[in-house]
Amino acid sequence: MTLRHGREFLAIPGPTTVPDEVLQAMHRPAIEIYAGALLDTTTSCLEDLRRIFKTEGRTYIYAANGHGAWEAALSNTLSRGDRVLVLGSGLFAPAWGEMAASQGITVEEMPASYRHAVDPAAVEERLRADTAGEIKAVLVVQVDTASSIANDIPAIRRAIDAAGHGALFMVDAIASLATMPFEMDAWGIDVGVTGSQKGLMTPPGLSFVAAGKRALDAHESADLRTFYWDWTQREGPRHYNKYCGTPPEHLLFGLRKALDLLFEEGLPAVFERHRILAEATRRAIAVWAQGGALSFNVLDPAARANSVTTVLLEGRDPAELLRYAENVCGVVLGIGIGDLTDKAFRIAHMGHVNAPMMLGTLGVVETSLAALGIPHGKGGVQAAIDCFVEAVPVAGRNDSAGSGGPGPARAAAPAVNAPGE
Ligand SMILES: *Cc1c(COP(=O)(O)O)cnc(C)c1O
Repeated sequence: MTLRHGREFLAIPGPTTVPDEVLQAMHRPAIEIYAGALLDTTTSCLEDLRRIFKTEGRTYIYAANGHGAWEAALSNTLSRGDRVLVLGSGLFAPAWGEMAASQGITVEEMPASYRHAVDPAAVEERLRADTAGEIKAVLVVQVDTASSIANDIPAIRRAIDAAGHGALFMVDAIASLATMPFEMDAWGIDVGVTGSQKGLMTPPGLSFVAAGKRALDAHESADLRTFYWDWTQREGPRHYNKYCGTPPEHLLFGLRKALDLLFEEGLPAVFERHRILAEATRRAIAVWAQGGALSFNVLDPAARANSVTTVLLEGRDPAELLRYAENVCGVVLGIGIGDLTDKAFRIAHMGHVNAPMMLGTLGVVETSLAALGIPHGKGGVQAAIDCFVEAVPVAGRNDSAGSGGPGPARAAAPAVNAPGE
C-alpha cells in the first residue's frame, strides 16, 4: 500500500519546486534572438539580478549550472599561480577550491568543520600573517548545502578589513540568495555567484555572477580568462555575445517570471517566510531529537541556515527513512552528502515553499520515524504548528488561547503568548 499518489513534494535543497507560473512562462515557442522581446528580457533580468544581489556592479548570466558560475568567478579575476584562501564549512567551498586548483591556482584551505561556521577571528589571524599579500582571493559559501551552516558574511568581511588585507572577497550564494539577506555592496563582497535552481525557483541550467568594481579591475589583468566565461566578451554591444552564443531563451522566460514573483512578494517578506518555515522545521526536529536518535548537524543554533536543515541520524541508515518518505508518502527528502553521506538527511525549506508544504513534509518525516520505529519525541509537527501560530498571529487577537486553545498539545508546547494570564 502506498499513499504517494497525488502531487509529489520535492524537499531537496536544489533543484527546488518550480512554481506553475514559471513553468507556464516557459511553455511557448522559441523566438528571434537578434532583436525584439528577448533583448528586453535580457536587459531586465540583468538589471533585476542587481536588485537581488544588492549591487551597483555588473551581472552576468551563464547557460551553466552553479559550477559554471564558480569557474566564471575564478577565471575572470585570477591568474595562474595566484593563491586563494578557502574557508570551508562543509562540502562546497572546498569543491570550489578544487576547481581553482585544477586551473593552476594555489589553494590554501583553512582548517574547517561540517559542524561549525567559519571563524572570522581565524580568518583575520591568517590574513594578518600574509604580510606579502600573496592571497589574492578569499572563497566562502554563505550557506553550505551539505552541512546546512549559514556563515556570517559581514563578520568575515570585517575580519578581512581588520587584517587590512586586499584579497578579493568571493561569496557563493547559490543556496542562500533569495532566501536570506545578501547585501553585496553593503557587505563589501567583490564577487557573488548563484544558480537558478534554488532560491530563484527556476529550473537548473542558468547561473549568475555579480562583480563589483575591485573584481572588474582585477579582470583587466587576469590571465585565466577564457573566451566562453570572459566578462569583456559579454560586455559587447551584440546581444548574442552576452551569452557567448544562442541565449537559453526558455530558461530566461522562466527566470523573468520567477523574479517577478519574488518582487511581487517583496524580498523582506521572502526572507521572513524562509525564516519562519525554517524555524518551524527546527522546532519539529528539536522535539524529535528528544528520542535520542536524531540531532542537528549544526551545533550553534545561530549558524543554522534558513534554506536547508541537515539532520544527523544515528544507528540507522537514513536511506530507509528516505525510502519510506518517498515510496509510501510521496515526499522526497535530501540525502546526506560529502562527509555526511549515509549519516544524515536534509530537509529543504528553500524557494517556492509554504506552510502546507512544510507541514506536509514534517508530517511525513514524523510518520516515517514512527513507522520505522526510530526513537523520537512525539509532537514535532505540533511544535511546527505552534511556531506558525506564534509567528503569524491573527490581528487583534491577544488572548491566552492564541496558540490553539487549551488541550494537551498546547500544554506540551512552550508558552508563546504570555499576556492575558
Ligand atoms: C548547489 C550548490 C552548488 C553547485 O551548484 P550546481 O548548480 O550543482 O553546479 C554550489 N554551491 C552551493 C552552496 C550549492 O548549494
